[in-house]
Amino acid sequence: MSEITNGKSVAEFFGCNVFSDQVMRERLPKTVYKSVQRTKQLGIALDKDIADVVANAMKDWAVERGATHYTHWFQPMTGVTAEKHDAFINPHGKGEVILEFSGKELVKGEPDASSFPSGGLRSTFEARGYTAWDPTSCAFVKDNSLYIPTAFCSYTGEILDKKTPLLRSMDVLSEQALRILRLFGNTTCTRVTTTVGPEQEYFLVDKKYFDQREDLVITGRTLFGAKPPKGQELEDHYYGNIKQRVSDYMKDLDEELWKLGIYAKTKHNEVAPSQHELAPVFTTSNIAADHNQLTMEIMKKIAIKHGLYCLLHEKPFAGVNGSGKHNNWSMSTNDGQNLLDPGDTPQNNLQFLTFLCAIIKGVHEYAPLLRLSAASAGNDHRLGANEAPPAIVSMFIGSELEGVIEALENGTKYSYGDNKTFEIGVDVLPDFPKDTTDRNRTSPFAFTGNKFEFRMLGSADSISCTNTIINTIVAEELCQFADELENSQNFKKDLKALLVKTIKEHKQIIYNGNGYSDEWLEEAVNVRHLPNLVSTPDALPEYITPKSVALFEKFRVYSELELRARTEVLLENYSKVINIEALTMIDLVRKRILPAVFRYTKDICDTGASKEAMGISSAVEKDLAAKLSSLTEGIYKETAALEEKVIAAQEQECGLPSARYYRDVVFAQMQTLRCIVDETETNVSEDIWPLPSYTTLLFTV
Ligand code: ADP
Ligand code: MG
Repeated sequence: MSEITNGKSVAEFFGCNVFSDQVMRERLPKTVYKSVQRTKQLGIALDKDIADVVANAMKDWAVERGATHYTHWFQPMTGVTAEKHDAFINPHGKGEVILEFSGKELVKGEPDASSFPSGGLRSTFEARGYTAWDPTSCAFVKDNSLYIPTAFCSYTGEILDKKTPLLRSMDVLSEQALRILRLFGNTTCTRVTTTVGPEQEYFLVDKKYFDQREDLVITGRTLFGAKPPKGQELEDHYYGNIKQRVSDYMKDLDEELWKLGIYAKTKHNEVAPSQHELAPVFTTSNIAADHNQLTMEIMKKIAIKHGLYCLLHEKPFAGVNGSGKHNNWSMSTNDGQNLLDPGDTPQNNLQFLTFLCAIIKGVHEYAPLLRLSAASAGNDHRLGANEAPPAIVSMFIGSELEGVIEALENGTKYSYGDNKTFEIGVDVLPDFPKDTTDRNRTSPFAFTGNKFEFRMLGSADSISCTNTIINTIVAEELCQFADELENSQNFKKDLKALLVKTIKEHKQIIYNGNGYSDEWLEEAVNVRHLPNLVSTPDALPEYITPKSVALFEKFRVYSELELRARTEVLLENYSKVINIEALTMIDLVRKRILPAVFRYTKDICDTGASKEAMGISSAVEKDLAAKLSSLTEGIYKETAALEEKVIAAQEQECGLPSARYYRDVVFAQMQTLRCIVDETETNVSEDIWPLPSYTTLLFTV
């Protein structure tokens, strides 16, 4: 237990390292505090004098907590966070310093941005980038620095990060949702906020064994590894009791997150051995995104303290489940309603069905964008592999709600229970038990009682892109609905007609069956014509289709230039990841695996020769040596082939052609090589095999 938490209850130390609203209220003059609140709500710039007062208060508060530095903390397109630290010191008098932090330094930073991916948006001679304070996310102290959450853009104003588009998408959704709420007679609500609760999966392995696996160290996943005798088939790990070492880790992790004001709530063992999950209580999307980045970082940091390593890769081990990040999403009003809660008046029910239909239409029309929001080299191992949703986007709304929608479409009453019926706009929607909507775990986009759960996202990904896309899609549909209904002379009648039309045209996206089955794949593709974008290079071009560009430009979430840049960054990243994996494989084979097999073969041959000398048959040794020789030959040949293909990959045109080549040629060759190496592993003594086995990695924590 740390000094801060020692003897204190969670309620006492929760958020102690956060420059929270409450701290601001305590430490800032009333007028200054009010200015900051206005800035937050209206998204306007802070006056210079006021910024100076805020900065000074922040510095004093941070210094009391041991901070010596401050950093603008931002989220470039790498998907991880970036920071550069400056000390508060300023020379003063003879050899003395005073601690200073100005409003200017708080509000704006100018990091040299030339080494962050920009997708061609910024040439090196214009290397400067800007970071700008995001007052909607609280500053905090960590590792003796004051962290200031910021947005990041280029010298010429193009966005270079993941936070800015998310903030923009939240604004556009709010604006369009408010138009709908006004139609329902709501005059009190002034802001609709999107909320997110991301469930984070991860693996813990012993650091000692992790360090012995070059593939894990460099790529985050095992590139080789024969299947262990036991995997997850006994289903004894899911929700199983948590081992002491893991439990100690989780306790420390919770404490660290709580100090930073992160609502870490639920923890349990997951399906695969050594796999776990952490879920926070949901909060505003923007803050949820910042908190998720911090959570991932702190998960890794705390693991090291416990002699563990936390793997966030989507597929660290072949043959057992990989890790995802379920993105629970809803919208709530500042007058206290969750817009995806069916509500308990006929009026609220109708409003709920309106938002529901907008989401159904949005997911159907923009399914490829949702798919691409979860696209990465790591996540390609999961989607469609019978452990995560398929690469086809569909929606699950539960049989009761499907019944309601059907009744609406057919103009009939919805019958339920013992001869009870429900009429839309007249009766109160029946109370659906939550668990009936939460049963289908195979759907990529599932309604779970009062929120939607998007299940495609990979564990290592930032949640920003997914939420930017969900928010913008839903804003577009709400905008279309509002455009049509705002001039209506008979709102209820026209609304019903609009909902019926929406359901008829878009119910193809609703599927309540088993999303993992082959029948679904067949039906989705051949009967319903839903897009099946199997891999990352298939999905990414969807960013820059005319339809997508029109959507994002309409709401000024991204310009076409920014979309093209993003696509380029992501494609390049995909190729680079596979390139690094292939090179790591070649390195491992030549420097560690082949030498080990040679040594083992020699041992066997020596044994055989000794036996022969004593007149004992060496048939077994001969047989085994011959087998290993042949495997060695195979490894040698396939490694050379992989090397040739990696070299040829450099000749491919950048962007899509290169990414496709990596997928079809390089990755395919990696699989071939892996196969033969894994077979060899099962024929070599564990003492000699240079990499800790799957059994060692998965079952020793
Ligand atoms: P599970 O999917 O494992 O059954 P829960 O139902 O407990 O999990 O919730 C999962 C996540 O959904 C939690 O992070 C929770 O805070 C979040 N959640 C609940 N309500 C909302 C909401 N209105 N908006 C966004 N997320 C929500
Ligand atoms: Mg869930």
